[in-house]
Amino acid sequence: MYSAQRIFQRQRLLLWLGILLAAGFFATTLSSYYVSKQTILNAIAAQELPLTASNIYSEIQKDLVRPVLISSTMAHDTFLRDWALGGERDVDAMARYLREIKTRYGAFSSFFVSDRSANYYTGEGILKQVSPKASRDVWYYRVRAMPEPYEINVDPDLANQDALTIFVNYRVFDFDGHFLGAAGIGLTVDAVRHLLSNYQQRFQRTIYFVDAHGKTVLFGNQSGRQEIDLRATPGLRDIVDRILREKSGAYQFRDSHGLHLLNVNYVPELKWYLFVEKGVDEALADIRRTLYINLAICLGITLLVLFLTHAVLARYQRRIENMAATDKLTGLLNRQAFNLLIDKIFAESRRDSRPVSILLIDVDHFKSINDRFGHAGGDRILSQIASQLLKGLRTSDIAIRWGGEEFLVVLKGSALDSAQRVAEQLRLRIEQAPFMVGTQAVPVTISIGISQYNGVEPCEQVISRADASLYAAKHGGRNRVLSAA
Ligand code: GH3
Ligand code: MG
Ligand code: MG
Repeated sequence: MYSAQRIFQRQRLLLWLGILLAAGFFATTLSSYYVSKQTILNAIAAQELPLTASNIYSEIQKDLVRPVLISSTMAHDTFLRDWALGGERDVDAMARYLREIKTRYGAFSSFFVSDRSANYYTGEGILKQVSPKASRDVWYYRVRAMPEPYEINVDPDLANQDALTIFVNYRVFDFDGHFLGAAGIGLTVDAVRHLLSNYQQRFQRTIYFVDAHGKTVLFGNQSGRQEIDLRATPGLRDIVDRILREKSGAYQFRDSHGLHLLNVNYVPELKWYLFVEKGVDEALADIRRTLYINLAICLGITLLVLFLTHAVLARYQRRIENMAATDKLTGLLNRQAFNLLIDKIFAESRRDSRPVSILLIDVDHFKSINDRFGHAGGDRILSQIASQLLKGLRTSDIAIRWGGEEFLVVLKGSALDSAQRVAEQLRLRIEQAPFMVGTQAVPVTISIGISQYNGVEPCEQVISRADASLYAAKHGGRNRVLSAA
């Protein structure tokens, strides 16, 4: 009962220690993880993404400057204007001119639309006639009416199997300022796409263009993701309207791949939105791995501390229990230990049907030893008697200091006759042993009473029978062994 309560207290102590250690470790580990995570997220959102976006944006603008210059040169070319004013007679000459522009500048297509004849000229000749009713010619009538000298427009190119093309549409005037038509070149979007791919690889993020309807127009890599409607895309779906309205800004959204940070820039020349996106999960993979390692270390340390504390406590407890069960003077077990042990010993004996005997030992005329050598001298003799007794016993036998100068020995597996033999050997051993106080030899004898446990009786009864035998041995002249019949 007493011991069980102590074990319970020890477990509670260990539990609290474990909770405190774990809570401390986990709190510091997790808080440093969240600080690092926030720092990384901020760096991506505030610096990395905007930087990539503005880099791409300026690259695109740079790439668009040259085509604008070429188109401007065409619009101001005297040949083109003279040819238009002269009645557009030699179609071959115009086709040659447009072919020349196209090959010289590496353009995808080159064109001139005459306002007077509505002819659409390319390097191949007359492609068609533009008409205000045709939806594909809307661009021309828009250019014709606009106040600016040119526009940049993205459209499928009729002259090139409808390939998506960036057109620079320049307004052409005669020498008196009358409108003659529109001229310019078309660029394949491959160049821009190539640029996006480059950036995508260099910065490990997803880059694409989105049109005013929220549909992707152009992806960095051509694989798969073409023409995606962001309004139908999980995560983006909820914020796409806001993005289109706000034109530029920083956003976040979550989909099955985790959290994404997004930076959007509107490119007015293309009327497209540049989306630069980065999945945060990959960026956080490193510090997440560190987090797991740290948590594992914390767990290990917590377990180690708990284990060590447990071991130390258990050792101290054992030591305290030993101290409580041991007689200081002789090193034998004390009466309290006997009380704890004897029930178990008797139960074992009943279970295995093996005999148990006990010897009750009293030192003869001990008072006179005390009288001769004083109490301290008597003590020294007592401890020598104890070690002599131990020498004469098997390891399975248990020797107890019963009180004063009395000892009790439990002989497991011994019936009365073999107990008698052991007792006789002990008596003889004590009689013959050289007990000393200082330099003086002290003759010592003991009397022993023996009884055997009968398998049913209470402990006190076994002892009282041994006590009666001891009493008889004393009366019989001492220095002898007697057993209870
Ligand atoms: P006998 O047993 O042969 O009848 O004689 P005895 O002189 O031994 O008598 P008894 O057993 O009645 O007395 C034991 C004495 O032992 C009494 C006490 O003063 C002494 N004694 C008891 N405990 C101790 C002890 O721890 N140290 C010492 N030095 N003496 C003790
Ligand atoms: Mg006595
Ligand atoms: Mg005595």
